[in-house]
Amino acid sequence: MAAQIISGKTLAAQVKERMTGETEALKRQGVTPCLAVVLVGDDPASAVYVRGKQKDCEECGIRSLLVRLPAEATQQQVLERLAALAADGAVHGILVQLPLPRHIDERAVIAAIPPEKDVDGFTPVNVGRMVIGEECFLPCTPAGCIEMLKSTGQPLAGKHAVVIGRSNIVGKPAAILLLRENATVTVCHSRTQGLAQLCRSADILVAAVGREGFVTGDMVKPGATVIDVGINRNAEGKLCGDVDFAAASEKAAFITPVPGGVGLMTRAMLLVNTVQAARMQARA
Ligand code: NAD
Repeated sequence: MAAQIISGKTLAAQVKERMTGETEALKRQGVTPCLAVVLVGDDPASAVYVRGKQKDCEECGIRSLLVRLPAEATQQQVLERLAALAADGAVHGILVQLPLPRHIDERAVIAAIPPEKDVDGFTPVNVGRMVIGEECFLPCTPAGCIEMLKSTGQPLAGKHAVVIGRSNIVGKPAAILLLRENATVTVCHSRTQGLAQLCRSADILVAAVGREGFVTGDMVKPGATVIDVGINRNAEGKLCGDVDFAAASEKAAFITPVPGGVGLMTRAMLLVNTVQAARMQARA
């Protein structure tokens, strides 16, 4: 039997509707949520992502501010712009679009974002808070994955979740959030032995590798939920995930598509974090 699709489109639309309502409520209190996006250089993919984020904000009534710096901007110049945004009371969320040009130290730049405006959830303070279970901004992609899993109505507690990938922005935080939901978590990576076997024991399989067709149908346990985080281009130039969707759908109970899956929820969770930032700063 074919798996049920977890639609990022439907879920993201619901989140956006909720955020539009919350933004209207904040505006009635005199607060307009505002997200500042810092874009350094002219990487075409980054420009597309940034435009998408701005469009999402616009749709929900959130103000967005694009701060563009040339590719040759120095680290000091980037840090100065961040300091100005940090001090600007009208800006609630700050996001630095990655990757940065190679001469800029990504960690130093991220660490310069004040934790209360860190709507990507990438600063050491927010990562630490996430690990110890304190209130914080959750990184958008893993948070979106959890929302998608919850939307199935299947309990997460006690389930075996296998995460493939251990990056700081996807794999590791996805594992932490699944642990927070009381799943039993295995993290697989490039040095893992017996990966296919581990995947076959997963009730929840999260693929965040960045390789087309990495997860084949025989790696999926019958009845599993498969979350495909990967964004790749296939030989025809079409967008695809890490999972062989057709084969995996034959085995899984629930599966996310690419496109139309995790990517859309990632964008939606950024709106959630921006509204949360505005709400918290309005209270402070
Ligand atoms: P990354 O390159 O930083 O990490 C990839 C991970 O895959 C690494 O931890 C590595 O250990 C693991 N890996 C590589 N080869 C492996 C192998 N043979 N076996 C097991 N593990 C292996 O990538 P990332 O930033 O975590 O992104 C992963 C994918 O998710 C990419 O396709 C990226 O484009 C996509 N992504 C999607 C979204 C979204 O919103 N949908 C957001 C971020 C990233």
